[in-house]
Amino acid sequence: MRKNFLRKKEDFECQVCGGWVKGDGYTDHCPQCLWGKHVDKRLPGDRESSCGGLMRPEGAIWEKGQYRIFYRCESCGHGFWVREGEEDKREELERLTVKIFPEKSEGVGGRGKGKIRKGG
Ligand SMILES: [Zn+2]
Ligand SMILES: [Zn+2]
Repeated sequence: MRKNFLRKKEDFECQVCGGWVKGDGYTDHCPQCLWGKHVDKRLPGDRESSCGGLMRPEGAIWEKGQYRIFYRCESCGHGFWVREGEEDKREELERLTVKIFPEKSEGVGGRGKGKIRKGG
């Protein structure tokens, strides 16, 4: 049997909210509750970790026109940043942003505002 499926799309069921997550090759977390699964070891997408623990979304930042979410594994404590998914719930992302940067919450969603500049 030969099939022409070369895409690496993985659908999975969210263990937290029970929603069905449609994999598009990049999605590694639930767009509804934003929880993910610890499947990547060193790079997002490598799928080399055998941990399989739940990744808790601890916070998010708004950067260059998109959100980045910080995850912490409930099982092994591993933490890393991932980019937002296209389908991610905006409310959840905003809520997480507020969590880390309460003072920046008003700037979320604005355009070109709240740039973080350091150095000099
Ligand atoms: Zn979920
Ligand atoms: Zn883990």
